[in-house]
Amino acid sequence: TSFSELNLDPKVYQAILEAGYDTPTPIQEQAIPHALMAKDVLGIAQTGTGKTAAFTLPMITILAQGRARARMPRSLVLCPTRELAAQVAENFEIYGKYHKLTMALLIGGVSFKDQDKLIDRGVDVLIATPGRLLDHFERGKLMLTGIEIMVVDEADRMLDMGFIPDIERIFKLTPFTRQTLFFSATMPPEITRLTQEFLHNPVRIEV
Ligand code: AMP
Repeated sequence: TSFSELNLDPKVYQAILEAGYDTPTPIQEQAIPHALMAKDVLGIAQTGTGKTAAFTLPMITILAQGRARARMPRSLVLCPTRELAAQVAENFEIYGKYHKLTMALLIGGVSFKDQDKLIDRGVDVLIATPGRLLDHFERGKLMLTGIEIMVVDEADRMLDMGFIPDIERIFKLTPFTRQTLFFSATMPPEITRLTQEFLHNPVRIEV
């Protein structure tokens, strides 16, 4: 398979070519077609497999098809650490460089002020760690009722860090009709339970 066969947005395809990629990795080849058909995806994949592009490429393609919603975020990526969230944001900037999607990186350790400004301006994509996202929510700054696509990245690390109650709460703040792309390197029982509760008939992909 080549990227040209994956039905990605033409401008996303252009950005991938410019990033120097020839061929999709196995997780990309298997996850992207299902994600583009609005299916929930459960991807069991380690770091280094290309999983970040496996969710960012279809997300940008889907967001590019819809209409911008005034001030309401349309997608959310949850990451266990600030570093990982920053990496995902970098990926979004590379693959989304020809789109006018707006993005806010909501992580701890920095002041609320700049993040508030971004949120107030209206963002399409939120990339966040769970604690900081809920802080913004509790301050009344954030509505998650417009979320169309939600990604949970490195769910097993979230479990190790005690974030599962936060993730459950965040799931419940988003619409039932959202699409979920969920990634974990391993599937301990607590993670299996979470996917059973919140994913709708997911396609399971293991690489
Ligand atoms: P990840 O598993 O998402 O952390 O990605 C690991 C690395 O692989 C990143 O540096 C990506 O830029 C790179 N990468 C992702 N997809 C591809 C691809 N299809 N071809 C070549 N490199 C890739």
